[in-house]
Amino acid sequence: MKTYQEITITPINNVDSRAVKTGAWRTWRPVLIPEKCIHCYKCWKVCPDVAISVESPEEKSLPVWDYDYCKGCGLCAFECPKDAIEMQREVDQ
Ligand code: SF4
Ligand code: SF4
Repeated sequence: MKTYQEITITPINNVDSRAVKTGAWRTWRPVLIPEKCIHCYKCWKVCPDVAISVESPEEKSLPVWDYDYCKGCGLCAFECPKDAIEMQREVDQ
């Protein structure tokens, strides 16, 4: 059996994920409605692209989106307990 170093590199991906800005795929953009946010950070926990950051949870800072990496899957909006994240069509931005 071949090792992974011996397998031919496929066209799927041959660079690490920092070089693959998945935001370019996005059709729907999550937009925070700050006044609804209760700082539970569930959105931050569930994002599969680590596209949400929280600068200071102790000071209840708002989550911040990195749109270079958010691919618009909508999981953060689905899981938000307060409907504080609205998915908007990218063309409307
Ligand atoms: S899941 Fe919703 S309420 Fe919780 S931090 Fe994220 S946006 Fe705010
Ligand atoms: S839409 Fe998906 S990829 Fe974008 S921030 Fe929410 S969970 Fe992450």
